[in-house]
Amino acid sequence: MGLLVVGSIAFDSVKTPFGHAEDVLGGSATYFSTAASYFTDVSLVAVVGEDFPEQHLQFLRSRNIDLTGLERAPGKTFRWKGEYTYELNEAHTLDTQLNVFQTFRPRLAEKQKKSQVVFLANIDPDLQREVLSQVEKPALVACDTMNFWIGGKRDALVRTLGLVDILIINDGEARELAGEPNLVRAASKIRSFGPRTLIIKRGEYGALLFGKDSVFSAPAYPLESVFDPTGAGDSFAGGFMGYLANTMNFEDANIRRAIIFGSVMASFNVEDFSLNRLRTLEYREIENRYREFRRLTHFDDL
Ligand code: AMP
Repeated sequence: MGLLVVGSIAFDSVKTPFGHAEDVLGGSATYFSTAASYFTDVSLVAVVGEDFPEQHLQFLRSRNIDLTGLERAPGKTFRWKGEYTYELNEAHTLDTQLNVFQTFRPRLAEKQKKSQVVFLANIDPDLQREVLSQVEKPALVACDTMNFWIGGKRDALVRTLGLVDILIINDGEARELAGEPNLVRAASKIRSFGPRTLIIKRGEYGALLFGKDSVFSAPAYPLESVFDPTGAGDSFAGGFMGYLANTMNFEDANIRRAIIFGSVMASFNVEDFSLNRLRTLEYREIENRYREFRRLTHFDDL
């Protein structure tokens, strides 16, 4: 069994300095599973409302994503409204409507309980634990979160962190979670909550990996046009976890390669609104950009 993910499926309304989009397909689980589907089989756990159009489900199916764990409930789909200024690294949330997620009680199918690799995408930390507690013996568990939950459900989030191997989080949120402005000190405090590996996403400045005795720094791909940063973090996580689930090798060197695949997926995603760029993306483009990343970071010793 491949990769199991729980997270949001959303209608997003997003404004950037370059345009805006209303009620487009979004959500942490949507971006994550689409990006991960280039590397492995993905099974999704989430809920949508009666207003969710069939065409979006068709898209997810076209990416071979298993929707057995996707429930359609009476009520409205989750909605998020956000804005970016020219400081594209940070989304400003204008509105969050949990809607059908407020009462969602997921029950995993038997084959989902056997999942080896689990990703708890950004969603209510109680829900993240409810899903994880049903998985029998996962080999690797990673999770993401955001300021909405750090501020609103801190104790529940800390309980979730006690159960995960890897936390993927952005820099502002890492500082907020640790109550510590210095990233290196914030990283060791967060690792003391549970995750042995911490990945801090820094938008256009790349990502930092903190392990037990090692730190690894990956750049972001220098793009000429960043159109909409929404979903960058989730598609990073999708590439990262998809590659790990495909290779089932969790050693440091492979985790570093996975970070580059994550960075590749994030770099494609920000080239257009919603999931539009991922709709046309082909695997050979991913391989080409992975090779460009190698050239970007390579230097020779004397
Ligand atoms: P990111 O990858 O961090 O840009 O995530 C963007 C996605 O997160 C958007 O498509 C939103 O629908 C989703 N999102 C925003 N706020 C929340 C929240 N509080 N819980 C779950 N998902 C959210």
